[in-house]
Amino acid sequence: MQVDLHTHSVASDGVLSPQALLDAALAAGVTLFSITDHDTLAAYDEIGRLGSYGAMRLIPGIELSAVWQGRVVHILGYGFRWPACTLAAGIDTQRRRRDKRALEIGERLARRGIENAFEGASRHAAGGSIGRPHFARYLVETGAARSMDDAFKRWLSDRAVAGLCAHWAALTEAVDWIRADGGTAVLAHPAKYQLTHTRLRELLGDFVSGGGEGLEVICGQQAASTTRDLALSCARFGLMASAGSDFHEPQAYANAPGIRPVLPADLRTLWDHFSG
Ligand code: AMP
Ligand code: MN
Ligand code: MN
Ligand code: MN
Repeated sequence: MQVDLHTHSVASDGVLSPQALLDAALAAGVTLFSITDHDTLAAYDEIGRLGSYGAMRLIPGIELSAVWQGRVVHILGYGFRWPACTLAAGIDTQRRRRDKRALEIGERLARRGIENAFEGASRHAAGGSIGRPHFARYLVETGAARSMDDAFKRWLSDRAVAGLCAHWAALTEAVDWIRADGGTAVLAHPAKYQLTHTRLRELLGDFVSGGGEGLEVICGQQAASTTRDLALSCARFGLMASAGSDFHEPQAYANAPGIRPVLPADLRTLWDHFSG
């Protein structure tokens, strides 16, 4: 079985159109799939609100940027009803925050000698949800950075944008938006926040008491020990396990969408949940 509950299209910082993304997932043999763009549902305006595509079951999804104790965390939302009214209102707010942050990132880069970054990033975002990867592509294109990774390290690190991200929804608010439309909230890629075990437990405690129901135990390529640790946390907090590639573009992170989740048999999973 192959699932993929975490992918990005051009509606945020991915490079494939929503339609091309569906085709890539289908070709990879994925049977349960979700497009989870950052703070936008625009991909679903293009592909519609299908329940399936070929042999693939589709679950509506989103990845919301949120703040917990001054840090940015990502909350995945799945299976909300259409029209997702509360979520749509929340997304409008996030969109304004993203646009404002992009202007501020442009100003910061200008002060460091990089001209026209906002315009360049906007061109890459092409009307979609604008983010740091669009700035990174502009920095690579103009020679200010050697690679996306270099662009993030030199110009766009969390430290470089510190303060600018503090305006995302609070963790509990993001969970509320998802639940208000009948959706399921899942904490994305917990291993990427570089938290100590104690702090991760604190985050999971707050997430569960705020109504969070799932944990992304597998995100792209990761060490088997990470999967084991996260599966244990999942069981301890009574969360459902989820898995996704966090696919953005061919040749980066992962070559194709699709994960074959190998998890302890007693864990309840998002795919159990969505198949009845
Ligand atoms: P933003 O939501 O605008 O703050 O951008 C965060 C996004 O940047 C993440 O979702 C990743 O897709 C991307 N990202 C973060 N770090 C890196 C990196 N080192 N190289 C390439 N992309 C990255
Ligand atoms: Mn991204
Ligand atoms: Mn993320
Ligand atoms: Mn993602």
